[in-house]
Amino acid sequence: MMKNGQCPKCGERNIRSNTNRQFPALNTITLGSGSCDKRYAPLDTYICGSCGYVESYVSKSEDLKYIQEKWALVPVSSQPPIVLNIKQAATNGEIYH
Ligand SMILES: [Zn+2]
Repeated sequence: MMKNGQCPKCGERNIRSNTNRQFPALNTITLGSGSCDKRYAPLDTYICGSCGYVESYVSKSEDLKYIQEKWALVPVSSQPPIVLNIKQAATNGEIYH
């Protein structure tokens, strides 16, 4: 979560965002494609000034509300997240999940 000012990838505290609205919202996401349903949600973009990693967030709470009503909920997988321990895999000759 880059909103708290730290990059989740490289750990640097060098996050830049356009939340000062120095530039108009450049990135949008299409929420609906129907003729009366067409709408676009502006995104707040966060960029790590050190490694270039990018995160985007829907800016407006009403757009988030619309998404929660219309977009499918992705079910939480019962599988544990796959974590590769490369050092272990190399020394044991197999890959650990
Ligand atoms: Zn970074």
